[in-house]
Amino acid sequence: MNQRDQYLEALGIDQWRARRALPTVVPLAVVPRPAAARVREAADPALWQALRQEVSVCTRCELARGRTQTVFGVGNPRAELLVIGEAPGAEEDRQGEPFVGRAGQLLNSMLRAMGHPRETVYIANVLKCRPPGNRDPKPEESASCRPFLQRQLELLRPLMILALGRIAAQNLLETDTPIGRLRGQLHRFGACALPLIVTYHPAYLLRSPGEKRKAWIDLKFVRQELARLRLQPPAASA
Ligand code: URA
Repeated sequence: MNQRDQYLEALGIDQWRARRALPTVVPLAVVPRPAAARVREAADPALWQALRQEVSVCTRCELARGRTQTVFGVGNPRAELLVIGEAPGAEEDRQGEPFVGRAGQLLNSMLRAMGHPRETVYIANVLKCRPPGNRDPKPEESASCRPFLQRQLELLRPLMILALGRIAAQNLLETDTPIGRLRGQLHRFGACALPLIVTYHPAYLLRSPGEKRKAWIDLKFVRQELARLRLQPPAASA
């Protein structure tokens, strides 16, 4: 079994296979041209560092009192894809990195199966501090933390956001529409109308493995849209 099949197996996805070998010679005329590689420039590391420092001493909401440390975000500063979860859990609060617990391991498999492994994307949360007992974020906590996420977005300038789970999706899209109806659509986030796709949170998928198949459909949608967006000319900067 190749590596991708192993990740798909971890996701609980059976692969469809052709019974007869497909022809290996593809006429040249139908070979797609590789997308012109657009070099994505990373923002000045000093700007990232300044933001990280600002987040680390934040006392804008009551969560500051209960945290071990803030969980800023992690990943490739040139990432095309920004993955956004809800808030740090116990393990993330301990290690200072998002998605490092069991849900994080499943997220890693999901990203790898999609062809965008963890080290190539950027991962952050709506909240930078752990809510006590992993309760849902309060609206005022999300509102206090929003400028930090906004600034991360401005530094990263990703092509797309993948929102993980109901809380992140509803928060980012400012809606109370159920997640089942938010999936399968290309949403737009914020003033910059950044494309955003919603899928289930990996912690939910651990509890409801029967839903992994739907998550895989979402991930293929992300992959397809990213490939399409990569071909578009960059938006003119103001
Ligand atoms: N769940 C989240 O939403 N974020 C994390 O960082 C970990 C678990």
